[in-house]
Amino acid sequence: MLHLFCPNYRCRRISEIPVAWLKQEGIKAIILDLDNTLLPWDESIPSEENVSWVQKVKEAEIRVVLLSNNGGGRLQDISKELGVAAIGWGIKPLSIGFKRALRFLKVQSHGEVLVIGDQLLTDVLGAKKMDFKVLWVESLCRKEFVFTRITRKLESILIKQLTKKGIMPGGMF
Ligand SMILES: [Mg+2]
Repeated sequence: MLHLFCPNYRCRRISEIPVAWLKQEGIKAIILDLDNTLLPWDESIPSEENVSWVQKVKEAEIRVVLLSNNGGGRLQDISKELGVAAIGWGIKPLSIGFKRALRFLKVQSHGEVLVIGDQLLTDVLGAKKMDFKVLWVESLCRKEFVFTRITRKLESILIKQLTKKGIMPGGMF
């Protein structure tokens, strides 16, 4: 059960992930979380370095789709700015949003997909249930939704357990 919450990889932020490493790992597509992964949840424009990272990934012919448990105009604006598809109201960790994302990704196998997100209980659990690889990043912002603040308490218990078992990966880059 615990392994469903254990990311394959871990790093501080998305802009640290080398495109060459993605290629080396055989990643053909990325399902990217929005809030506190691509940008802080209370902001509407991603940082220049994150925008440029997404562009580099796209130039390397790795497809990107945004998958958020939020939706609305903010998500659509960011999707337009980055020139990538976006799926809102994803209800992660349920599989429904991930399955919708797959339609944009045209991959041969689920092992070619990397999910990137900041929450073990939504991004990591959802990705693991789908047999995708998953990279867990640090949250960009300490302020979070009320519901997220509750799940973070559960997350901190999971982190302790995963670390105790020696299966939590260390920082990659
Ligand atoms: Mg998030």
